[in-house]
Amino acid sequence: ASETVNMEENMRMTLPDSIQRWLRAVGEEGARQHLRTYLIGGVVRDIILQKGNEDIDIAVEGDGIAFASDIASKWNGEIHKHEAFGTATITWPDGLKMDIASSRTEFYEKPGSLPDVESSTLKEDLFRRDFTINAMALALHPEEFGNLIDHFSGLEDLKRGSIRVLHNLSFVEDPTRILRAIRFEHRFDFAMDHETEAFIAQAVNAIHALSTDRILAEFQRLTAEMPPAQLFHRLQKLDVLSAFLPGAVWDNTAERLLPYITSLQSSLFMTLLPLFLQESGRVLSAGRVAVRKQDKQLVRHVHHLLDESWALSIERPGDFHRIAAHVSPLSVDIAVYCLEYSARQPEKASLLRQYQEKWQELPSWISGADLRRLGLRPGPLYKFIISETEKAIINEEITSSQEALNYAEALIHSCQP
Ligand code: ATP
Repeated sequence: ASETVNMEENMRMTLPDSIQRWLRAVGEEGARQHLRTYLIGGVVRDIILQKGNEDIDIAVEGDGIAFASDIASKWNGEIHKHEAFGTATITWPDGLKMDIASSRTEFYEKPGSLPDVESSTLKEDLFRRDFTINAMALALHPEEFGNLIDHFSGLEDLKRGSIRVLHNLSFVEDPTRILRAIRFEHRFDFAMDHETEAFIAQAVNAIHALSTDRILAEFQRLTAEMPPAQLFHRLQKLDVLSAFLPGAVWDNTAERLLPYITSLQSSLFMTLLPLFLQESGRVLSAGRVAVRKQDKQLVRHVHHLLDESWALSIERPGDFHRIAAHVSPLSVDIAVYCLEYSARQPEKASLLRQYQEKWQELPSWISGADLRRLGLRPGPLYKFIISETEKAIINEEITSSQEALNYAEALIHSCQP
């Protein structure tokens, strides 16, 4: 057997005192009940790396829910049971949360003694995980507190900076692990090992079977951690970009457009828009893009905007208002983006942008109160007169509040017998 590695010192250095106290208490209570308890998953990886992580996942070799109930009532924790999964979440009075899971459902067979061979159930639990670096555990039992359980050489991979799956069908089983792998590569400056990278090619069909919502949820977690450009580049290199996002292409143009689109709106769909727009709307019309139902309307509007048959003219006074109505419910920003980068109507895009800026800085030279003072009775005319006066302000036919009032007054007279 290989030498036991003990991480007690790392735990002391990386975990807040309060968490350490809870972990020792859990280990001791487990021992009293003749149950082995473990800290498991991502936090173990981070303890070894000496990085902070307060996501406390505990595995119990026994009935995890019963154990969680015991300790929750013993120390005044609030417990939420997830019976279907055999897990429970406890929130302690000091605010710390911990997740407790069973690594097997029946109680340990030999009450009164700890087995001298480690139970295989913990190993099975660890084997179901995504990567070796996430498949380690730390013993909490007082006699072995901090001992590292590492069946799959996770420690070695952590030292080498290697992301490695536990078996060749891992990505087929759950293709979102491909995205997780990319996330960990970026976060720790690690790399997938060659074999792991090769397994990805076999999972392409499984990727196609993923729901758009799951893909987008993972993309959201990814783009929160890494620049989208690097993500798309990596996916393209792994040859799975179009498996995750049908029709998407990552090339120089997309790369150039990306910062622009991400600065407009942070929503995920907008982050992906440049990819969709790669072929100037052709992808959109071909309907190959995996978008969520609620985004379909948006796609239709973008497409409409890119449609050449829609003659966009904003040379005349007041045109901005007509365009704005046309563009709605897209933001003007998105409209400008589409026009600029569809390479069809760039000059109109800049006009639209100018109008928008003026619109945002529109001085408040005319109001309902002004119209009342001018003797106009409240009614449908208010909206018309205000909007016409604002158009004249935007078009710089009016340059002061006095002129605005005069303009409105003249309008009132021209509209009434
Ligand atoms: P993070 O720091 O982003 O929270 P993490 O590794 O803690 O990273 P979680 O998503 O919180 O990630 O998952 C906790 C643990 O659950 C992981 O360390 C891993 O062991 C396991 N896990 C999570 N997602 C998967 C998956 N898709 N397949 C297999 N195991 C997974």
